[in-house]
Amino acid sequence: MSYDENNIFAKILREEIPCKKVYENEYALAFHDINPQAKLHILVIPKGKYISFADFSKNASKDEIEGFFKAVGKIAEEQHLVKNGYRILANHGVNAGQEVPHFHVHIFGNQTLGPMISKS
Ligand code: AMP
Repeated sequence: MSYDENNIFAKILREEIPCKKVYENEYALAFHDINPQAKLHILVIPKGKYISFADFSKNASKDEIEGFFKAVGKIAEEQHLVKNGYRILANHGVNAGQEVPHFHVHIFGNQTLGPMISKS
C-alpha cells in the first residue's frame, strides 16, 4: 500500500483545509479532532508521509521518531494533562478501525477515561 497524497491529514499539512492547531514543530503537527470523543481530544501527526504506526516505526528516521514523540509529551504538558492523567492511542489498520491513512496519535484528557478498550 502506498501513501495516499489526498488523505485528509495530508491536505491539512499542505494547508489546503484548515485545522484548529494546538502545536507544531519540525516533525509534528497537532490539532483538535473534528469529532471529539472526550472533553479534550487532540490528534498529533508526523510531518513525514507515513501511513500508519507500522510504517512510521519501521521507516521513519531516529530524528523523526524522537521529534514526534517528544511533541506528544510536550503537548500533554502544555495542555496541563500530566497531573490528572491522559490517554494516548494509535489505530493501525482494519481491526483497529483506522480511518485516516496518515499515522496519528490521539490524546484524550480533561476527564476520567473509562475502560481501556470497548468490549463490543
Ligand atoms: P482514526 O480512526 O484513528 O483513523 O482517527 C481518525 C480521526 O480523525 C477521527 O477521530 C476523526 O474524527 C478525525 N478527523 C477526520 N477528519 C478530520 C479533520 N478534518 N480535522 C480533524 N480531525 C479529523
